[in-house]
Amino acid sequence: MERFDIAIIGGGGAGMTAAIYAARGRRRTVVFERMVTGGQISTTDAVENFPGFPDGINGFDLAQLFEQQATKFGAEVRPEQVESIERRGGSFVLTTEAGQYLAGVVIIAAGADYNHLGIPGEQDFTGRGVSYCATCDGAFFRDQDVVVVGGGDAAIEESLFLARIVRSITVVHRRDTLRASAILQERAFAEPKISFAWNTVVESIEGGNTVERVILRDVTTGDTRSLNTAAVFIFIGQTPNNSLLEGLAELDAAGHAMVDLEMRTATPGLFVVGDLRARSARQLISAAGDGATAAIAAEHYLGELPREQMEAEARAVAAGE
Ligand code: NAP
Repeated sequence: MERFDIAIIGGGGAGMTAAIYAARGRRRTVVFERMVTGGQISTTDAVENFPGFPDGINGFDLAQLFEQQATKFGAEVRPEQVESIERRGGSFVLTTEAGQYLAGVVIIAAGADYNHLGIPGEQDFTGRGVSYCATCDGAFFRDQDVVVVGGGDAAIEESLFLARIVRSITVVHRRDTLRASAILQERAFAEPKISFAWNTVVESIEGGNTVERVILRDVTTGDTRSLNTAAVFIFIGQTPNNSLLEGLAELDAAGHAMVDLEMRTATPGLFVVGDLRARSARQLISAAGDGATAAIAAEHYLGELPREQMEAEARAVAAGE
């Protein structure tokens, strides 16, 4: 079984920063990423609040720079999905679809996945007008009318992106005030292509081969109406990817891992960072900070373990004991 000092699960801002620090600490480091590196920023058109980029930077490009920086210092990035983590002796056994690996420390930076509305038509029309990524799919709807669902930063930021491409955007929000940050709200209210359906939810998505309309319900009056649209972009928050944590870390009510100030879980050697941990600010910069914090704490943890103990454990695990 191949052995790494530090295995990182997830190649977003948190995981890649942990990899940069771990590799610079000359620890044998691997990042397992099941999709593209960058996590949520990889589908973000412009990252404007990461220090150092006063004009903003494309999220995919920034993610590529993160990866370049991590691999330059010796971290490996493997496109494998980790299916399970098992604590064996003082080490961890990670099983991916490609094989098994040993690690002295595991840093989980698996992030969160987009929430779904769970309404009729949503699943059927996914990829045919229903989308969770404006940067990926916006160009298909040039000069057409589209709907965005949600009132948070993601919904408003993506609406502003879509305004450069489509003819009109109706933001459907279940309340009468937005959750998004003030600067995004100001821009959205000043954008003539964006209008709002307040106190409104989407009841169903309808069409033929592709999306043609949504049925909207006013939650204050109960009235329903039909609105023609070519696409429905859904940005209603995320659910933490916590399936690997079962039995290894305590979770809060929303399914985020409880960690201490050094990103440590209750399992020695297991750290959780970024959007998957409890009370995260859920920002790229705070995720990166988590990654650095965890890698430094991991270094202390590994430094305190007697080398002979680690090697004896590695031999025992490799021998199947
Ligand atoms: P979010 O902040 O949780 O907002 C989700 C939005 O969707 C809320 O407006 C919520 O309504 C609405 N919503 C939730 N469930 C719904 C449902 N079933 N039906 C209809 N509407 C529903 O999620 P997010 O916008 O994805 O952002 C997640 C995190 O990433 C946040 O911390 C955010 O600040 C961060 N982020 C930051 C940036 C940036 O800084 N530029 C960009 C993107 C994301 P209510 O308001 O009524 O709850």
